[in-house]
Amino acid sequence: METVLRIAIQKSGRLQEDSLKLLKESGLHFSNGRDQLKAQVRNLPIELLFLRDDDIPQYVEDQVADAGIVGENVWIEKQKDNQLIKRLDFAKCRLSIAIPRSENYTGIASLAGKNIATSYPTIVKQFLKKHQVQAGIHEISGSVEIAPGIGLADAICDIVSTGSTLLSNGLKEVEVVLQSEAILIASPILTSEKQTLLDQLLFRIQAVQLAKNNKYILLNCPNDAIEKITNVIPGMKSPTILPLGRPGWSSLHSVVDENDFWGKIGQLKSHGAEGILVIPIEKMIL
Ligand code: ATP
Ligand code: ZN
Repeated sequence: METVLRIAIQKSGRLQEDSLKLLKESGLHFSNGRDQLKAQVRNLPIELLFLRDDDIPQYVEDQVADAGIVGENVWIEKQKDNQLIKRLDFAKCRLSIAIPRSENYTGIASLAGKNIATSYPTIVKQFLKKHQVQAGIHEISGSVEIAPGIGLADAICDIVSTGSTLLSNGLKEVEVVLQSEAILIASPILTSEKQTLLDQLLFRIQAVQLAKNNKYILLNCPNDAIEKITNVIPGMKSPTILPLGRPGWSSLHSVVDENDFWGKIGQLKSHGAEGILVIPIEKMIL
């Protein structure tokens, strides 16, 4: 029987869309119907399982799935026997402690003796222990932010992205407990065939991520500016330089990091670059 790598992803929710997009950009061909529990990848021996995100670490530990995409927050909370393979750069959020806005807060010690409502009891317990604060933990599975308002708890620990939910519930964020993003996890015990498939997938994910963080850049410059411009955008090995029809000028092609892109454009212009074109890269392999 052919080896198949089973990857668990969230059935519906905040991780689903970007997880599917990443797998598609990594060249996996599959169709995902609404109510499907699994999907067969057509061009690789990979099967996708659609599950609740909270269950994914357990399924990976039990080897029902070989790998999975989950939020780091869920992965840490569940404490299962999984290995972190790669941070995926989406679903970025933080797990924070919030208290009623009217309450005074002078530091973590202010939480002593309070009752904290959360869906992340393990993480909160670890946080309190690390800071040597004694507080109660009240585990609830959803709508955590309403707990102080209805008298269920004095504080909460929950996911915050913009803070608007906290605001509308009369709460203020006082401590960041954890920064989280989507991660690829895998079972620590994979057969060598499965490990090979996982490595292939990882290679593709890296190419997609690298491409997202870089742009292809083309520009025209006087020949005497080539050296200075090459120093600004050295590219992967070195830029490609082609003569222009106009004597004394060249076209220079390179790759530039998305993060310091605008700063570099300024430098290129000051060195005499003209007609700068910037093009997205689909895949990038070093
Ligand atoms: P499920 O039904 O699968 O249990 P859920 O309601 O537990 O879903 P979602 O709200 O879909 O979970 O969130 C899934 C994950 O997405 C969270 O565990 C977290 O890692 C991340 N996440 C949650 N809220 C945000 C947000 N506002 N911005 C970015 N990422 C978020
Ligand atoms: Zn969930």
